[in-house]
Amino acid sequence: MPDRMLQFVALPQQTPAKRGSATRSQDFQEIYDEYLPAQAAAQASRCSQCGVPFCQIHCPLGNNIPDWLKLAAENRLEEAYELSAATNNFPEICGRICPQDRLCEGNCVIEKNFDSVTIGAVERFITDTAFENGWVKPVRPRRERAQSVGIIGAGPGGLAAAEQLRKHGYQVHVYDRYDRVGGLMIYGIPGFKLEKPVVERRGKLLADGGVQFHLNCAVGGDVALHELRGRHDAVLIATGVYRARDIGGPGAGLGGIVPALDYLTAANRTGLGDAVPAFADGTLDARAKRVVVVGGGDTAMDCVRTALRQGAASVTCLYRRDRANMPGSLREVKNAEEEGVRFQWLAAPEAFLGDGAVTGVRAVKMHLGLPDASGRQAVEPVAGSGFTLPADLVIKALGFDPEDLPTAFGEPALAVSRRGTLSIDPSSFMTSLAGVFAAGDIVRGASLVVWAIRDGRDAAAAMHAHMQRAQQLAA
Ligand SMILES: Cc1cc2nc3c(=O)[nH]c(=O)nc-3n(C[C@H](O)[C@H](O)[C@H](O)COP(=O)(O)OP(=O)(O)OC[C@H]3O[C@@H](n4cnc5c(N)ncnc54)[C@H](O)[C@@H]3O)c2cc1C
Ligand code: SF4
Repeated sequence: MPDRMLQFVALPQQTPAKRGSATRSQDFQEIYDEYLPAQAAAQASRCSQCGVPFCQIHCPLGNNIPDWLKLAAENRLEEAYELSAATNNFPEICGRICPQDRLCEGNCVIEKNFDSVTIGAVERFITDTAFENGWVKPVRPRRERAQSVGIIGAGPGGLAAAEQLRKHGYQVHVYDRYDRVGGLMIYGIPGFKLEKPVVERRGKLLADGGVQFHLNCAVGGDVALHELRGRHDAVLIATGVYRARDIGGPGAGLGGIVPALDYLTAANRTGLGDAVPAFADGTLDARAKRVVVVGGGDTAMDCVRTALRQGAASVTCLYRRDRANMPGSLREVKNAEEEGVRFQWLAAPEAFLGDGAVTGVRAVKMHLGLPDASGRQAVEPVAGSGFTLPADLVIKALGFDPEDLPTAFGEPALAVSRRGTLSIDPSSFMTSLAGVFAAGDIVRGASLVVWAIRDGRDAAAAMHAHMQRAQQLAA
């Protein structure tokens, strides 16, 4: 082992510099700077090269982290990139937006006393360096195959599968109802976590490698699923989950109460230079408004921080549990706190006030009761604890469920779970329809980019095996 590893005993953890909260909350650029090469090498050298790498075990992609950290410490960045790209289609994206505190870094064995190795930041640095040096090349399959696949959804699940199948030489067609490639990475996740050119360059690279994109093409509308099944040798459904959970109660239909994804999509589109009428007329613009965001997950954090950047008069997050029980990444909660978001923990909306347009949220305080069957503490309202928060814009960020795909696709035989997610055979990734596979959020429910990539890769491997078998049978 080179003596430049194991430096954690002497070298403290150093994350990339974070822009000050006053400056960063004025724009939509990423908040973390890139490492300088010497910093990246030094931080990579903190890895203890332990025998049982829990970081790798807890990375959904099983990334070979200790080995690429060692290569990065030795400044062998091109090799580090090759190794990192062997298990991850989009390492620079995961390095930016994985909740590392719950995945790789949260399981680093030196974490207990020494602060974990900054795995995500080094991963990002390696691939950004690879792009700068022209080491990242479009796919060039060794041989072209006549068989073709249709992939529904250009999010991380669909794109990872597209790249894997293209490597095998299949003719890959990706259909998406959006006008841009990237799924939630382009229209959901804000630029301050993931700048859009980072997503766009991946889309371009795939197109340069021969992946054919059919954008503005909704399956179940512009084209039917059965048509795609006729056109292609295998089809992958990677459509994500988009049915927003709603809030009922008095006043829930007032103007100024909007779903989170409508709000974030409008902000992202505006940032990309699109004309968005509902933003231009103020409906989805938080400027000068008193904003209340209901919910406590990553989507809620993205909404509160977007509202601040749009110049809201005040931003309050209303969440029915406490900080320790927030479902989102604690790193993002901390970022939001630093930027000036006010958190109203242990409180839930009871009614929305106003005449035509919302002017306030009547809320009630909650307390955490006994754990339920799932082990999670139940929440119960505290009698007589009602209070009112003034609000001109209320954003509902309560999570997402799957759309009704059997109906949307006109395929009643497409089996779904009780939650409405697509049911698949766990080893073949095939749905109840022969030759139709599924991956990502539409199978797991709302999850993470890194899991969508993993599923897309696994589904692609299963589709390859299926098409090879079909070819052998036909021969
Ligand atoms: C606001 C927000 C913030 C998030 N932040 C993070 C984060 O910081 N880190 C993280 O890891 N994860 C985050 N996530 C979760 C992550 O974005 C998703 O888990 C991931 O994008 C799922 O990938 P997917 O490919 O399954 O689906 P998606 O990314 O949703 O892509 C599905 C694609 O399918 C298309 N589509 C849907 N229906 C049709 C149809 N009928 N015809 C044609 N096309 C269709 C959609 O237009 C879309 O492009 C966030 C999610 C949200 C909503
Ligand atoms: S993909 Fe995510 S979990 Fe895996 S090493 Fe990278 S940042 Fe960690």
